[in-house]
Amino acid sequence: MAGTRTFSIIKPDATERNLTGAVNKVIEEGGLRIVAQRRIKMTREQAERFYSVHAERPFFGELVDFMTSGPVVVQVLEGENAVARYRDVMGATNPEEAAEGTIRALFAKSIGENSAHGSDSDENAAIEIAQFFSEADIAG
Ligand code: GDP
Repeated sequence: MAGTRTFSIIKPDATERNLTGAVNKVIEEGGLRIVAQRRIKMTREQAERFYSVHAERPFFGELVDFMTSGPVVVQVLEGENAVARYRDVMGATNPEEAAEGTIRALFAKSIGENSAHGSDSDENAAIEIAQFFSEADIAG
């Protein structure tokens, strides 16, 4: 069975250090399948829309600046309990609190420049996937 889907972004701090393959290895070894993937440069409009739930947070401007500072890799991941599984594979938002072997423990530079995004619910996964992919782009 294919399982469920989540949405992932490999963030600019990781693409800048040429870590796309290294991050993907952790994703695949964590039991998730990359069923769609595209490297893009996000526009400010895309980043502001994507992170609109954080619009009132003090770090919002910094977050949008960072997410538009270089290329990102947007992905759809599939697996059993994909949302929760990818949150485990990524580790805590703050790399200092992230468990050993997680993407953020291995690669993140700081709480802001933390290498990966993963959806926090099935509902948000569907919304986020639809912002960047059509069903025809996804091959499970
Ligand atoms: P996530 O679901 O683990 O990505 O964490 P959140 O939804 O709380 O925050 C979204 C993103 O905003 C994080 O992944 C960070 O890139 C960024 N962020 C969160 N907290 C901070 C902060 O205190 N400072 C800065 N600069 N960025 C932050």
